[in-house]
Amino acid sequence: MLKPSSFKPNSYEPTPATGLVAYFSMEIAINPRMPTYSGGLGMLAGDTLRSAADLGTPMVAFTLAHRKGYFRQMLDAEGIQTEDAQPWRIEDFCTEEAPRVTVTVENRVVALRAWRYEVVGRSGHILPIYLLDADLAENSDWDRRLTDHLYGGDANYRLQQEILLGMGGVRMAHALGLPLNVFHMNEGHAALLTLALLEAQLGGGPLGQVTETDIEAVRRKCVFTTHTPVPAGHDRFSLEQARRILGAERTERLESMGCCHEGLLNMTYVALRFSRYCNGVALKHGEVSQAMFPEYKVDAITNGVHGPTWVSEPFADLFDRHIPSWRRDHLYLRNAIAIPADELLEAHARTKETLLAEVASRTGLVLNPKVLTLGFARRAATYKRANLLFHDPERLQRIAQAAGGLQILYAGKAHPQDEPGKALIHGVIERAKQYSGTDLRVVYLENYDWNLGAALTAGVDVWVNTPRRPYEASGTSGMKAAMNGVPSLSILDGWWIEGCIEGVTGWAIEDGVDDAAEAESLYAKLEDAVTPSFADQGRWARVMQTTIAHNGSFFNTNRMVKQYIRNAYYPYDLVAAPSMVAEAVSTN
Ligand SMILES: *Cc1c(COP(=O)(O)O)cnc(C)c1O
Repeated sequence: MLKPSSFKPNSYEPTPATGLVAYFSMEIAINPRMPTYSGGLGMLAGDTLRSAADLGTPMVAFTLAHRKGYFRQMLDAEGIQTEDAQPWRIEDFCTEEAPRVTVTVENRVVALRAWRYEVVGRSGHILPIYLLDADLAENSDWDRRLTDHLYGGDANYRLQQEILLGMGGVRMAHALGLPLNVFHMNEGHAALLTLALLEAQLGGGPLGQVTETDIEAVRRKCVFTTHTPVPAGHDRFSLEQARRILGAERTERLESMGCCHEGLLNMTYVALRFSRYCNGVALKHGEVSQAMFPEYKVDAITNGVHGPTWVSEPFADLFDRHIPSWRRDHLYLRNAIAIPADELLEAHARTKETLLAEVASRTGLVLNPKVLTLGFARRAATYKRANLLFHDPERLQRIAQAAGGLQILYAGKAHPQDEPGKALIHGVIERAKQYSGTDLRVVYLENYDWNLGAALTAGVDVWVNTPRRPYEASGTSGMKAAMNGVPSLSILDGWWIEGCIEGVTGWAIEDGVDDAAEAESLYAKLEDAVTPSFADQGRWARVMQTTIAHNGSFFNTNRMVKQYIRNAYYPYDLVAAPSMVAEAVSTN
């Protein structure tokens, strides 16, 4: 058996300056009207590509078409979630490419085409995203549906999709004649691209003849980002399933090359085994992942968000006036400390007004723009503890009374098969009913998506996050808030460990031994820090200034993409790397 420990990570000669980075992701939030994403992973992928395009980075991306989307969430009066498909017309957004490629799935030959979407950077650089599509007349009815549902179906469907994405994507890249020199796997879903590269390396020869030199040739091209410390987030398939769907020979070779863990084919191990560089998505997550995978070296590059996508119009206007270079280089947002307080408060008031108008049009509820408003929106996964705020319902009510009112806006989808997640949503909606008519207004907004996410993160006064440590790999919604001067009140996990300066960029919920202790800290911070600061708007404006200056300037994909180029894509190519950010500097 070829042992991972025989590897020498980070021992590569410079990569040539020509060629493209290929970014592979099962989900990419490409356009608000294309339902090709489910949540944070897809948003990060989209923001990464938008910033890469802004920076003029030579890069392309591959994903699946997801013709039926993820799902549209509906909540009835009892807080019960039901789901609908989100069919959309790919031809309204993308153009069809000529080549066809095939992959073998469960001994069937599946044909694929690609649709091209162009991400246009701020100086005109075009970054193509290729959406792979199996809906072709030559495929069986089952196979035509393989690129329909993001995270739909069972493990069989998932493994088949992963073959299409990873292996189909590599073959499509070759068919399109793309000169690729780096393959970036955004999460393990795309790990099978390494198998296609290995087979190409062998030139059609049998996998049984693979040597350490062949593996090295693949590793030299591949980088991998892992995104979650939650074990269920790492794709695993039984060997029986793998043999049936991927084929016996491939499964056996993957097993012998160290890609299985606890008797299962593990896509994280596939990706780790064949990558020269691997990273987690925040400093703490890098450490946690390093401990999970001690036989590999795991670095960290902290996530970010794409500024122009998430900054509300009033704030974009404000930045354009006071910090005109912010669009070119978000580091200039450091100068937010010089934006006058009254202008910041005014821009926030307008953004909040837009949000509250949206809430009114969706729910009929008219909220008070003067009242402190908290936001909590994210996937309804149990570790995110959407109900921590309600640990002591009377205490929260007393806080609301003392503060002259409190409004809390919730949103988030539970995966259709996540019953505990659905129960959380139900619980929050039950609470909302109990509080109705009091100083505490709680609203759960349906169908959390890109547009609602933008309105919420920019328009509330404080962004709240209460994950159970250490499961929040990074989190990005608080970064969107920070870009708009909205401070966070959060558990010290993920990005917030790096972003929290107490009283300056927000407040930390202190680590406790259990939910009760952390809820106690949450209440204490609301009582002693957040509500008194909010009551003094001059003081609040200073928090807004420093939130943008410290966190808007750093937690963005403009900085993050440059870090990927320097640390992951072209780590030793000191000459080539600067040309990767060859944006015209004549415009802002
Ligand atoms: C930003 C965003 C996310 C990810 O936010 P987290 O902080 O990681 O939970 C998820 N869904 C939508 C719609 C978003 O805009």
